[in-house]
Amino acid sequence: MWGFFEKKPVSDPSILTFPDIDNDLQTAVEGMYLCGDITGYPLLKISINQAHDLVERIAAEGVPPSPSEDVYQLAIVGAGAAGLSAAFAACGRNLNYVVLEGERTANTVRNFHIGKKLFAEPLSLQLKGDLWFEECTREKLLERWDTDLSEAELNIKTGEKVADIKKGSDGIFVITTTGGTTFRAMRVILAVGKQGDPRKLGVTRRTR
Ligand SMILES: Cc1cc2nc3c(=O)[nH]c(=O)nc-3n(C[C@H](O)[C@H](O)[C@H](O)COP(=O)(O)OP(=O)(O)OC[C@H]3O[C@@H](n4cnc5c(N)ncnc54)[C@H](O)[C@@H]3O)c2cc1C
Repeated sequence: MWGFFEKKPVSDPSILTFPDIDNDLQTAVEGMYLCGDITGYPLLKISINQAHDLVERIAAEGVPPSPSEDVYQLAIVGAGAAGLSAAFAACGRNLNYVVLEGERTANTVRNFHIGKKLFAEPLSLQLKGDLWFEECTREKLLERWDTDLSEAELNIKTGEKVADIKKGSDGIFVITTTGGTTFRAMRVILAVGKQGDPRKLGVTRRTR
């Protein structure tokens, strides 16, 4: 979908493959990074920490000021654990950022079954940044995140599913959503997770 990643041929479909990134989570395209589940570490705490550290690193390296009003310094694609943690860090570093989320914030966790217990592994790992997380139920996490997100007034645009990203000769990324809206940014973090577009059964879901 993104055009940037080479899919390596694998004879065994049970072997998971991930996009190539360097030690700084940068893809082959300069200025475009990955974090969270898509890098191959399927845990909330690791995703949160990884995203926090990534934005700290990007900010420390220096992002030029936006050349015009419609260009963000940083676009974060996906508002799951990694994307939200990245947004808090970007906010703390005064970066001009936007989060583009195709569905709802924390969509993966919202789709967990009612009452699911969330394990905060690895227990020895200290949580970084401003996105709260500890062992709790799905409901407790969502209640806490929803409150914290509305208080922090993060710049999150939901219902903006990214379909294409191209880097122009001026070094600016043009991000196009399935609805045809475009966003421009100097750096891009893909925090899209691994859930993809599941086939749904079309049955009514109980909510609580
Ligand atoms: C059933 C299940 C149980 C789990 N239990 C635990 C647990 O107990 N403890 C634990 O630590 N981890 C658990 N995990 C793993 C945990 O959910 C993930 O590690 C975590 O959600 C990863 O965060 P992420 O931000 O990388 O991805 P996600 O949380 O998946 O977020 C990705 C976001 O990107 C959005 N998105 C995707 N594509 C696009 C697009 N094209 N444009 C815009 N937005 C897009 C999605 O809608 C989603 O909101 C569990 C996972 C599953 C599936």
